Amino acid sequence: MEINYAKYSDGLVPAVIQDVSTNKVLMLGFMNEEAVQKTQELKKVTFFSRSKQRLWTKGEESGNFLLLKDIKVDCDNDTLLIKATPVGPVCHTGADTCWNEENTNENFLEQLEKIIQQRKEAAADNSYVASLFKKGINKIAQKVGEEAVEVVIEAKDNDEGLFLNESADLLFHYLILLNAKGYSLKDVTNILQQRHKKR
Ligand code: AMP
Ligand code: ZN
Ligand code: ZN
Ligand code: ZN
Repeated sequence: MEINYAKYSDGLVPAVIQDVSTNKVLMLGFMNEEAVQKTQELKKVTFFSRSKQRLWTKGEESGNFLLLKDIKVDCDNDTLLIKATPVGPVCHTGADTCWNEENTNENFLEQLEKIIQQRKEAAADNSYVASLFKKGINKIAQKVGEEAVEVVIEAKDNDEGLFLNESADLLFHYLILLNAKGYSLKDVTNILQQRHKKR
Protein backbone atom coordinates (compact mmCIF):
# COMPACT_ATOMS: atom_id res chain seq x y z
CA MET A 1 0.00 0.00 0.00
CA GLU A 2 1.54 3.29 -1.21
CA ILE A 3 0.85 6.22 1.17
CA ASN A 4 2.17 9.71 0.40
CA TYR A 5 3.24 10.87 3.90
CA ALA A 6 5.65 13.41 2.36
CA LYS A 7 2.70 15.37 1.02
CA TYR A 8 2.20 16.82 4.52
CA SER A 9 4.93 18.83 6.27
CA ASP A 10 4.27 16.96 9.54
CA GLY A 11 3.97 13.58 7.78
CA LEU A 12 0.47 13.06 9.18
CA VAL A 13 -2.11 11.60 6.82
CA PRO A 14 -5.83 12.04 7.65
CA ALA A 15 -7.67 8.80 8.33
CA VAL A 16 -11.46 8.61 8.14
CA ILE A 17 -12.82 5.81 10.31
CA GLN A 18 -15.98 4.08 9.09
CA ASP A 19 -18.07 1.42 10.82
CA VAL A 20 -17.73 -1.70 8.65
CA SER A 21 -21.26 -2.91 9.42
CA THR A 22 -23.34 0.31 9.49
CA ASN A 23 -21.16 2.42 7.12
CA LYS A 24 -21.42 5.32 9.59
CA VAL A 25 -18.45 7.70 9.67
CA LEU A 26 -17.17 7.37 13.24
CA MET A 27 -14.26 9.77 13.63
CA LEU A 28 -11.26 11.39 11.95
CA GLY A 29 -7.68 11.00 13.08
CA PHE A 30 -4.15 11.37 11.76
CA MET A 31 -1.55 8.70 11.09
CA ASN A 32 2.15 8.64 10.40
CA GLU A 33 3.95 5.56 9.06
CA GLU A 34 4.45 4.15 12.57
CA ALA A 35 0.76 4.56 13.37
CA VAL A 36 -0.24 2.68 10.21
CA GLN A 37 2.22 -0.12 11.05
CA LYS A 38 0.99 -0.39 14.62
CA THR A 39 -2.63 -0.41 13.42
CA GLN A 40 -1.84 -3.37 11.17
CA GLU A 41 0.13 -5.23 13.86
CA LEU A 42 -2.40 -4.77 16.67
CA LYS A 43 -5.45 -4.92 14.41
CA LYS A 44 -6.59 -1.93 16.48
CA VAL A 45 -6.79 1.56 14.99
CA THR A 46 -3.80 3.60 16.22
CA PHE A 47 -3.29 7.29 15.43
CA PHE A 48 -0.53 9.78 15.96
CA SER A 49 -2.25 12.14 18.41
CA ARG A 50 -1.38 15.76 17.71
CA SER A 51 -2.43 16.81 21.22
CA LYS A 52 -0.59 13.98 23.00
CA GLN A 53 2.34 14.10 20.47
CA ARG A 54 2.64 10.31 20.56
CA LEU A 55 1.08 7.16 19.15
CA TRP A 56 -2.44 6.75 20.48
CA THR A 57 -4.34 3.49 20.21
CA LYS A 58 -7.97 4.55 20.27
CA GLY A 59 -9.51 2.86 23.32
CA GLU A 60 -6.24 2.51 25.26
CA GLU A 61 -7.84 4.04 28.39
CA SER A 62 -11.54 3.47 27.80
CA GLY A 63 -11.34 0.00 26.26
CA ASN A 64 -13.42 1.33 23.37
CA PHE A 65 -11.08 0.03 20.69
CA LEU A 66 -11.66 0.22 16.94
CA LEU A 67 -10.97 -3.27 15.57
CA LEU A 68 -9.30 -3.04 12.16
CA LYS A 69 -11.15 -4.63 9.22
CA ASP A 70 -9.68 -2.87 6.17
CA ILE A 71 -7.47 0.05 5.13
CA LYS A 72 -8.00 1.81 1.79
CA VAL A 73 -6.00 4.69 0.34
CA ASP A 74 -7.72 7.29 -1.82
CA CYS A 75 -7.15 8.17 -5.50
CA ASP A 76 -3.95 10.18 -4.91
CA ASN A 77 -2.60 8.24 -1.89
CA ASP A 78 -2.95 11.08 0.62
CA THR A 79 -6.01 10.09 2.67
CA LEU A 80 -6.98 6.83 4.36
CA LEU A 81 -10.37 5.20 4.76
CA ILE A 82 -10.30 2.68 7.57
CA LYS A 83 -13.12 0.23 8.09
CA ALA A 84 -13.43 -0.93 11.66
CA THR A 85 -15.72 -2.48 14.24
CA PRO A 86 -16.14 -0.22 17.29
CA VAL A 87 -16.08 -2.10 20.61
CA GLY A 88 -18.05 0.68 22.32
CA PRO A 89 -18.86 4.37 21.95
CA VAL A 90 -16.28 6.05 19.71
CA CYS A 91 -16.50 9.66 20.85
CA HIS A 92 -14.96 10.73 24.16
CA THR A 93 -18.41 12.22 24.97
CA GLY A 94 -19.84 8.70 25.04
CA ALA A 95 -21.69 9.10 21.74
CA ASP A 96 -21.30 6.32 19.21
CA THR A 97 -19.86 8.65 16.55
CA CYS A 98 -18.13 12.05 16.72
CA TRP A 99 -21.01 13.51 14.67
CA ASN A 100 -23.93 12.25 16.69
CA GLU A 101 -27.03 14.37 17.09
CA GLU A 102 -27.69 12.92 20.56
CA ASN A 103 -29.05 9.69 19.04
CA THR A 104 -32.24 11.54 18.12
CA ASN A 105 -33.89 9.11 15.74
CA GLU A 106 -33.11 5.96 17.63
CA ASN A 107 -34.75 4.77 20.79
CA PHE A 108 -32.62 3.41 23.56
CA LEU A 109 -33.60 -0.25 23.06
CA GLU A 110 -32.39 -0.03 19.45
CA GLN A 111 -29.12 1.49 20.66
CA LEU A 112 -28.83 -1.30 23.19
CA GLU A 113 -29.37 -3.92 20.44
CA LYS A 114 -26.45 -2.40 18.51
CA ILE A 115 -24.21 -2.40 21.57
CA ILE A 116 -25.08 -6.08 22.16
CA GLN A 117 -24.16 -6.86 18.53
CA GLN A 118 -20.84 -4.99 18.91
CA ARG A 119 -19.99 -6.85 22.13
CA LYS A 120 -20.79 -10.14 20.37
CA GLU A 121 -18.51 -9.34 17.40
CA ALA A 122 -15.68 -8.03 19.54
CA ALA A 123 -15.84 -11.18 21.73
CA ALA A 124 -13.69 -9.53 24.41
CA ASP A 125 -12.77 -11.63 27.45
CA ASN A 126 -14.04 -9.01 29.89
CA SER A 127 -17.47 -8.61 28.24
CA TYR A 128 -20.41 -10.25 30.06
CA VAL A 129 -22.48 -10.15 26.85
CA ALA A 130 -19.70 -11.84 24.85
CA SER A 131 -19.36 -14.51 27.56
CA LEU A 132 -23.10 -15.26 27.31
CA PHE A 133 -22.88 -15.65 23.53
CA LYS A 134 -19.96 -18.04 23.98
CA LYS A 135 -22.11 -20.22 26.27
CA GLY A 136 -24.71 -20.59 23.54
CA ILE A 137 -28.44 -20.25 22.98
CA ASN A 138 -29.59 -22.80 25.58
CA LYS A 139 -27.73 -21.02 28.35
CA ILE A 140 -29.04 -17.62 27.22
CA ALA A 141 -32.61 -18.95 27.08
CA GLN A 142 -32.20 -20.40 30.57
CA LYS A 143 -31.03 -17.00 31.78
CA VAL A 144 -34.17 -15.38 30.32
CA GLY A 145 -36.25 -17.99 32.18
CA GLU A 146 -34.50 -17.21 35.46
CA GLU A 147 -34.99 -13.47 35.06
CA ALA A 148 -38.67 -14.03 34.18
CA VAL A 149 -39.15 -16.03 37.38
CA GLU A 150 -37.45 -13.25 39.34
CA VAL A 151 -39.91 -10.74 37.83
CA VAL A 152 -42.83 -12.97 38.87
CA ILE A 153 -41.46 -13.24 42.42
CA GLU A 154 -40.89 -9.49 42.74
CA ALA A 155 -44.35 -8.74 41.29
CA LYS A 156 -45.85 -10.29 44.44
CA ASP A 157 -43.68 -8.15 46.66
CA ASN A 158 -44.00 -4.47 47.43
CA ASP A 159 -40.47 -3.40 46.55
CA GLU A 160 -40.94 -1.52 43.28
CA GLY A 161 -37.18 -1.00 42.95
CA LEU A 162 -36.55 -4.74 42.87
CA PHE A 163 -39.45 -5.32 40.48
CA LEU A 164 -38.17 -2.71 38.04
CA ASN A 165 -34.60 -3.96 38.26
CA GLU A 166 -35.62 -7.55 37.55
CA SER A 167 -37.74 -6.25 34.66
CA ALA A 168 -34.64 -4.54 33.25
CA ASP A 169 -32.65 -7.79 33.66
CA LEU A 170 -35.38 -9.68 31.80
CA LEU A 171 -35.54 -7.20 28.92
CA PHE A 172 -31.76 -7.11 28.59
CA HIS A 173 -31.38 -10.89 28.48
CA TYR A 174 -34.34 -11.16 26.14
CA LEU A 175 -32.61 -8.79 23.67
CA ILE A 176 -29.54 -11.04 23.86
CA LEU A 177 -31.67 -14.12 23.19
CA LEU A 178 -33.32 -12.46 20.19
CA ASN A 179 -29.89 -11.59 18.78
CA ALA A 180 -28.60 -15.12 19.41
CA LYS A 181 -31.56 -16.48 17.43
CA GLY A 182 -30.81 -14.02 14.59
CA TYR A 183 -33.72 -11.69 15.33
CA SER A 184 -34.24 -8.18 16.61
CA LEU A 185 -36.98 -6.44 18.57
CA LYS A 186 -38.37 -5.17 15.25
CA ASP A 187 -39.26 -8.74 14.21
CA VAL A 188 -41.39 -9.05 17.34
CA THR A 189 -43.03 -5.63 17.10
CA ASN A 190 -43.84 -6.39 13.43
CA ILE A 191 -45.92 -9.37 14.56
CA LEU A 192 -47.67 -7.27 17.18
CA GLN A 193 -48.44 -4.61 14.55
CA GLN A 194 -49.84 -7.21 12.14
CA ARG A 195 -52.07 -8.62 14.87
CA HIS A 196 -53.23 -5.12 15.66
CA LYS A 197 -54.18 -4.44 12.01
CA LYS A 198 -56.30 -7.60 11.80
CA ARG A 199 -58.65 -6.42 14.51
P1 AMP B 1 -9.50 6.30 24.59
O1 AMP B 1 -8.47 6.28 23.52
O2 AMP B 1 -10.88 5.98 24.07
O3 AMP B 1 -9.12 5.41 25.74
O4 AMP B 1 -9.58 7.77 25.15
C1 AMP B 1 -8.44 8.40 25.70
C2 AMP B 1 -8.54 9.89 25.51
O5 AMP B 1 -8.47 10.18 24.14
C3 AMP B 1 -9.83 10.53 25.98
O6 AMP B 1 -9.77 10.96 27.30
C4 AMP B 1 -9.97 11.71 25.06
O7 AMP B 1 -9.22 12.81 25.49
C5 AMP B 1 -9.37 11.23 23.79
N1 AMP B 1 -10.36 10.72 22.84
C6 AMP B 1 -11.04 9.56 22.92
N2 AMP B 1 -11.85 9.38 21.87
C7 AMP B 1 -11.69 10.46 21.09
C8 AMP B 1 -12.24 10.88 19.83
N3 AMP B 1 -13.16 10.14 19.18
N4 AMP B 1 -11.84 12.04 19.29
C9 AMP B 1 -10.92 12.78 19.95
N5 AMP B 1 -10.36 12.45 21.12
C10 AMP B 1 -10.73 11.31 21.70
ZN1 ZN C 1 -6.50 12.50 -1.91
ZN1 ZN D 1 -15.72 12.86 19.44
ZN1 ZN E 1 -32.34 -10.66 37.87
